Amino acid sequence: MFVSQASARSFRLFSSTVALIGPGLGFCEPLTLNTRGVARRRLGTQSATPSYTVNKERLWNSIHETAKWGATPDGGVRRLALTDNDKAVREWFISTTESLGCSVNVDEMGSVFATRPGTSSSLAPIGVGSHLDTQPAGGRYDGILGVQAGIEILQVLEENGHRTYAPITVIDWTSEEGARFNTGMVSSGVWSGRYTLDYAHAIPAVEEDESGKATLRSELERIGFLGKVPASYTANPLSAHFELHIEQGPVLEDEGKKVGIVTGVQSMGWLIVTVHGANQHSGTCPMDRRRCALTSAARMISRVEEIALTAEGLSTVGVINSWPQSPATVPHKVVFSVDLSHHSTKVRERMIADTHAEFARIAHANKCTVEIEDIWNSPAVQFHEDCIGCVREAAENTAGVENVKEMMAGAGHDSVHTADRCPTSMVFVPSKGGISHHPDEYSSPEQCALGAQVLLESVLRYDDRLKRNAL
Ligand SMILES: [Zn+2]
Repeated sequence: MFVSQASARSFRLFSSTVALIGPGLGFCEPLTLNTRGVARRRLGTQSATPSYTVNKERLWNSIHETAKWGATPDGGVRRLALTDNDKAVREWFISTTESLGCSVNVDEMGSVFATRPGTSSSLAPIGVGSHLDTQPAGGRYDGILGVQAGIEILQVLEENGHRTYAPITVIDWTSEEGARFNTGMVSSGVWSGRYTLDYAHAIPAVEEDESGKATLRSELERIGFLGKVPASYTANPLSAHFELHIEQGPVLEDEGKKVGIVTGVQSMGWLIVTVHGANQHSGTCPMDRRRCALTSAARMISRVEEIALTAEGLSTVGVINSWPQSPATVPHKVVFSVDLSHHSTKVRERMIADTHAEFARIAHANKCTVEIEDIWNSPAVQFHEDCIGCVREAAENTAGVENVKEMMAGAGHDSVHTADRCPTSMVFVPSKGGISHHPDEYSSPEQCALGAQVLLESVLRYDDRLKRNAL
């Protein structure tokens, strides 16, 4: 995930490594749930799609062969956006898709669109997208599976000589993770109009030695991926967007389900909390005279967890710093982050309101004061019923009704932004132990292939609906 520049600045106050934590949605303005550009008309539901089968071994080998670009000794992948490793895998992506008959375009954000023509040249392509960049200590599947499955779809269509009605575009969205450039899902965000191109191009690279002056634009230029196609849903539109992704959580595995039909993305966001107390001598200041910012913060952290539990939401305090960092001094200042999520935007807003009220009460009771900054706020996103319907039919057909589960995504994905501008849905497959953003991330060959099969059938079903509705 990612943070916008403003939040990135805030987090650098905490620690130079915090800027490398995973994704977050941007927060410049609230996401709209169903906005301009999203087709309102429901497409017909009768489907007669051909049945092709993805090649499990080919998909598996491709995932692991390309892991060499950024491979780490522990089996993970470190492929930060627009580094030389990212450049290498992008070049592989282009040569592979060109060999499958695709024409390849790169947009102004460096996102790569590999398009296989359909029989209707006037129709915007059906997008199959995800990302090839990773977190600093990432795994082999997050994002990568979605792009690799898109390539596998191209392989299957090509070997079966199947010409779709709409063109199919497999997309590698630039810098989804927001790890090196601190705005997650930034290129799909520019494409959807959520961020301006100037804002995105100016995002500085977070380098380990903090010596660089590199920006997202300068790194695009350096690796030769500053494309000419406008990064815009109007100039480069999609008929729909489908994304296969690992779940990155334990729900499917725990419930013994094979496929997640993703109906939307939960509401999420971050607060930055600053507690002010007073510097006092630890050996001489009586307890009843203390204004300890850290004790206040500890009570707040405990309380926000209760708020989340009561609301059946999620809360995380992942960063905390205190000043002046002396064992013999009562801390006068503490800053910590609060991540709050809920599938309902309304309930999450209530969680935030409760947090404000309770933190003020706790601060007052401890003779402290508190400031709360709402630095990132992303309302829940509802995916499009037509795309969800295609994924549902494909999943039930492929895995069996008893093995699928409708669910909301807990993390941000590029599909959050495409959902603003075209019908969108996602497919999840289980993640072993729910582990992600870690070298131990794992989904089996069978799970990856099943996800790709559902993705293929979802795309063909949507294509069939487009065709029948055009007749
Ligand atoms: Zn991802």
